[in-house]
Amino acid sequence: VKTIGVLTSGGDAPGMNAAIRAVVRTGIYYGFKMLGVRKGYNGLIAGDISEMTARNVSDIIHRGGTILQTARCKAFSTEEGMQKAMSISRAFGMDALVVIGGDGSYRGARDFSKFGMKVMGLPGTIDNDIASSDYTIGYDTAMNTVQDALDKIRDTAYSHERCSVLEVMGRKAGHIALNVGIAGGAEVILLPEKEFDFDKDIIRKIIQGRNSGKKNYIIILAEGISEKIGGALELAKKIEDLTGIETRGTVLGYIQRGGSPTIQDRVMASAMGVKAVELLKDGVFNRIISVKDSKIIDIDIDEALSMKKDIDQDLLRMSNILSI
Ligand code: ADP
Repeated sequence: VKTIGVLTSGGDAPGMNAAIRAVVRTGIYYGFKMLGVRKGYNGLIAGDISEMTARNVSDIIHRGGTILQTARCKAFSTEEGMQKAMSISRAFGMDALVVIGGDGSYRGARDFSKFGMKVMGLPGTIDNDIASSDYTIGYDTAMNTVQDALDKIRDTAYSHERCSVLEVMGRKAGHIALNVGIAGGAEVILLPEKEFDFDKDIIRKIIQGRNSGKKNYIIILAEGISEKIGGALELAKKIEDLTGIETRGTVLGYIQRGGSPTIQDRVMASAMGVKAVELLKDGVFNRIISVKDSKIIDIDIDEALSMKKDIDQDLLRMSNILSI
């Protein structure tokens, strides 16, 4: 390997810039030529590629989003698109590619490796929904953003003795909702991974809380369950109709994807970026960088994609004890 490309793909996440910086600087440190690919796999197909220097990644470690920008690319899922991307990569002399993104981006990278590209995946998603890794870049920042919002909502909910329903990101995974639900003292935590009964798990809990003297109620839900029971606004109306308690819904939305990354996201992104390039230097490729038991490891890309991740059942159990 002489020339390494780097791109960000799928949903953006705070800390992606720290990862780009680490990949570029480590590459330059070891004498590689480094290429930045813009807008995910689209940039590979369009040739939106340019050389990166150590100075190109100055002053970005503290910034959210991704300086390379990101996108979803339909064309890359086709054989024709992959072939084109491979031709363009060859034209730029790129012989390895670091992909910072989620599971979908890994699938793209795995397929691309079949065309001869040496790939390396870094976990970048706020949802922490990558099975091979305990931790993903952006997760900590997103949780802190949600925590801040929940604390503010709690202040006003208490003042008015209201019930508040907060909808957070997580289409398939409720890691953010579960952790912030515990950290913010939510009465009810609704996750895609957990079955629940509207009357028993929500209405009864609120009424029991009122009977025991609670002054406010927080319900946090991951967006994935809104298909089952409606989003925060619909749920708020249903709760108000049944309990008579004034209830307000808030959908937090894209605020969760932005912001300056936390120390944890910056350090993890930096360390994983260094590891990705050091492996390429040692002739290791088609791996996914992951965190297991607080250690940074690498896993075969096919193996990583076949893994499954569950919500922390013990934490879920404890959240029920703490919310009485
Ligand atoms: P994430 O990486 O955050 O999971 P997506 O699932 O949107 O985000 O995937 C990002 C991009 O990866 C897609 O737009 C597409 O270009 C590529 N991709 C996703 N799934 C596949 C697949 N099965 N085969 C090839 N490429 C894929």
